[in-house]
Amino acid sequence: MESRYVFPTHLAYQFLKDRESQVVKANIVYGDGECALCGQRVSEGYGVGDIVSGAFTNWDRFAPWSRILCRPCAVAFKAEELRHHSFWISARDGVKFFAKQETARYLFDPPEPPFVFCVTVSHKKHMLFRTKVNYSRKSFYVQFEEQTVLFDTEALKKPFEVLQEMYLSGVDRAAIQTGEYKPKSKVQVEKLLAWDTQIERLRGRPELNLLLYALGGVLSGGKVEKEE
Ligand SMILES: [Zn+2]
Repeated sequence: MESRYVFPTHLAYQFLKDRESQVVKANIVYGDGECALCGQRVSEGYGVGDIVSGAFTNWDRFAPWSRILCRPCAVAFKAEELRHHSFWISARDGVKFFAKQETARYLFDPPEPPFVFCVTVSHKKHMLFRTKVNYSRKSFYVQFEEQTVLFDTEALKKPFEVLQEMYLSGVDRAAIQTGEYKPKSKVQVEKLLAWDTQIERLRGRPELNLLLYALGGVLSGGKVEKEE
């Protein structure tokens, strides 16, 4: 039977383990315990204090009673490339790091499950241990910085097309986010209303922010990207 991944670090580990000694500069510790991150029972691993710095701000993610991390969690936590880039990791298709302009392409055509999908804006935050392992290409979780977004490819396809049209017509992202447009003519008012009815249900939702982020890349071929 094919193994089912429960925790994302274990999925990533199969692609990271060859580099374990380069990624983790700490000694293996022995002793029965539970991994402080994924909860798996372990007889060896790394000391939590050897892997996670005191300056780390999400200690609430770690079980306070455990001082050990399993090898997959330690390696995935230390692998810097998983913080510096957007990526997906698929048990079948491997690892793909991608640039902003490729985000939309992979959102609407994700890899074969099981997979994890992470999109960074800051290029420095931990995403992998916050996310979930996906088993569907139609509806899956995207870790968008610190937010976990449920992405439904069918439901979001049309709104994304509308957003592209709007953006190409010069409607800026802030106006799309708030719905406070500044139309210059009556024709434009009608157009904006027609567009808005197709995206208004997304207003205030994290899916909209993710789509707006992905927009820039898609349109960069024809237009200079404005960073806000
Ligand atoms: Zn673990």
